[in-house]
Amino acid sequence: MGHIERSEHINFMDFNNTRYIPMSRRRRIYEGKAKVLYEGPEPGTLIQHFKDDATAFNAKKHQVIEGKGVLNNRISEYLFQHLNDIGVPTHFIRRLNMREQLIREVEIVPLEVVVRNVAAGSLSQRLGIEEGTQLPRSIIEFYYKNDQLNDPMVSEEHVTAFGWATPQEIDDIMALAIRVNDFLTGLFLGIGIRLVDFKMECGRLFENEMMRIIVADEISPDSCRLWDIKSNEKLDKDRFRRDLGGLLEAYTEVAKRLGILMENERPLGAGPVLVKG
Ligand code: C5P
Repeated sequence: MGHIERSEHINFMDFNNTRYIPMSRRRRIYEGKAKVLYEGPEPGTLIQHFKDDATAFNAKKHQVIEGKGVLNNRISEYLFQHLNDIGVPTHFIRRLNMREQLIREVEIVPLEVVVRNVAAGSLSQRLGIEEGTQLPRSIIEFYYKNDQLNDPMVSEEHVTAFGWATPQEIDDIMALAIRVNDFLTGLFLGIGIRLVDFKMECGRLFENEMMRIIVADEISPDSCRLWDIKSNEKLDKDRFRRDLGGLLEAYTEVAKRLGILMENERPLGAGPVLVKG
């Protein structure tokens, strides 16, 4: 085997790449509802694998939707890469293949940070505000990441008193949340989509005796509410939560509008295709 050209993106199943680690020999660090984390090829890195599982209501509702993981991998990559480019630090390093990306290992802050621009979902239910009502300003909420407790909403007082994050870290997280929201709102507006709300997670990155907070996990239609500007059609996981059907089509539409999928690209989950050579 001669010299192997190193490219920015490692191709799917690139066995020639010296750093390719077969699935069976990888050490699994963590398995969540929609993703698996494996040990990465270098210290301080992990491989984030996107599964096809869709869950809602703390996994009480579950379905495998073939192709969802591939779409979320690509959409999350696109959003995180753009955030990196504008100086919002994220854990994303590069895509490895159709379902996996290389990320920086961080210590996850046990909070789900929800940013809302328009009333929907649990906010509408809790406060009796009609879905679709523009909020007077963007609202940031914290939920304690704990499946056994159904991720309860908590205040900054709880966060600091129980040591989930320090007051400085909360400031950093809120500043990041506002920057991510501003950027994503504009980005989606440009492709005819209203960013109603989204969830993000943060992690502590330790580098040369220093620690900083960066954006982690994923940002995808699984973790955002995305409504078509004109029709108000839902292009996110509410299609699954509310049994509306057409989840894959909706995620594909988001990917297409972002310019990730070409118009003539084969439908995801359609199985292998014959490549003429
Ligand atoms: O359900 P709720 O209205 O609180 O959700 C707000 C936003 O956070 C939605 O975009 C939803 O997709 C996201 N979310 C999430 N993971 C959760 C809870 C909410 O991605 N566990």
